[in-house]
Amino acid sequence: MNTGQKMLDSAQALIKKTAEKMNLDSEMIKRLVEPEYVHEFSFKVKMDNGKDKIFKGWRIQHNSALGPYKGGIRFHPETVREEVQALATLMSIKCAVAGLPYGGGKGGVAVDPKTLSKAELERLSREYVKKIAHFVGEDIDVPAPDVNTNSEIISWMIDEYQKIKGYKSLATFTGKPVSMGGSLGRTEATGRGGLFVLQALIKKIIASTPNFFDAMGTPTPLKRKKIGVSANLEEKVPSLENITIAVQGFGNVGYYFAKLAEKEGFKIVAVSDSKGGVYVKDGLSVEKTMECKKEKGMVAGCYCKGSVCDIKYGRTISNEELLELPVDILVPAALENVINEKNMNKIKAKIILEMANGPLIEEAYEYLSKKGVIIIPDVLANAGGVTVSYLEWVQNKAGFYWSEEEVNSKLKVMMERAFEAIWEKSVSRKIPLKEAAFEVAIERIVKAMV
Ligand code: GLU
Repeated sequence: MNTGQKMLDSAQALIKKTAEKMNLDSEMIKRLVEPEYVHEFSFKVKMDNGKDKIFKGWRIQHNSALGPYKGGIRFHPETVREEVQALATLMSIKCAVAGLPYGGGKGGVAVDPKTLSKAELERLSREYVKKIAHFVGEDIDVPAPDVNTNSEIISWMIDEYQKIKGYKSLATFTGKPVSMGGSLGRTEATGRGGLFVLQALIKKIIASTPNFFDAMGTPTPLKRKKIGVSANLEEKVPSLENITIAVQGFGNVGYYFAKLAEKEGFKIVAVSDSKGGVYVKDGLSVEKTMECKKEKGMVAGCYCKGSVCDIKYGRTISNEELLELPVDILVPAALENVINEKNMNKIKAKIILEMANGPLIEEAYEYLSKKGVIIIPDVLANAGGVTVSYLEWVQNKAGFYWSEEEVNSKLKVMMERAFEAIWEKSVSRKIPLKEAAFEVAIERIVKAMV
């Protein structure tokens, strides 16, 4: 079974299970599970050698009860229809969890962008837009970046879209460069949003189980600092000394999450990219590691503490090893299905923050939640990206732009509000956060359906 199919099966199974518990009728359940439109197409791109190459692409529009379809476009060699459909389904849930006036959609192209020249990448992005231009729009379907796509790719896409339409429509794509109507704070938003949710969770945990981190047998005894003033957030949050975090993925999501978490006082002990990772037991410097990665082209070999990188500080680890490290918090921020039946019994973290979409397969999720691991589901943990996409869309529509501080503080309010509703549901119904998130989302979607 392809990994996309697995992901789709788990997303659909969770929707069905939740909807059945809510006593929704079978037709309603079908509407929640099935996508409204599946666009599958192939298109040709002129390669640098003058030859045409055919690529396969998708845009799947899952549910529009709450508003226009919303979701990113990914470029990945293993992308298949089932994966895009699973991700579109998760976007419907995510937008509802985040309280946004959006439904869910997702796009993808089966391509390894690392094998393309920049000119080829631009042509591919523009050809993709030619295929989707007639069924997206600011009040219909609003694409954005996802895995291996960024603001530059979005700038080509919106330019192509506007050329086809013959008018400006900035709000049709989000994740644009700031110079083209993008929002300040959008690049860091997914990482920042995940951190807000993690901090909100830790506050709740400390309030109910003050010795949570000590009690679960962390190898290095944890000392809890008194409530401290967080410079970054300008308010009192529990600042925890020696809470260790391993982050898988050092792209837009993992890097900014790690950078901001380090600033807040968490100890980042491991990071990785697709080529492997590093473990620095005493805590690494995220900024310095990024500088080193830029030089070397990979994170492996970058053992950086403070302003120095030296072999004596750490060791190279594989992506698999990173997931099994003895850390307090594990942050899978790369691809789906990385925590699965093969490694689930080796996971030692007490909290998993799902910054990637679908990093745990269903079986691993069941196993680890039963073991008492707190899993902050992707539909909440990584909703910061789409939330600032929404703020970008609002700014484009209003033609009125906010400062970065304004964007960040709106994001904080929205993430905390989303977390609070899910936490409440989880406590009152005695269900894990993931099930609570699906229940909150489905309630909101169903209320908007006629
Ligand atoms: N690709 C991101 C996600 O999976 C952002 C989507 C968006 O901004 O529309 O949430």
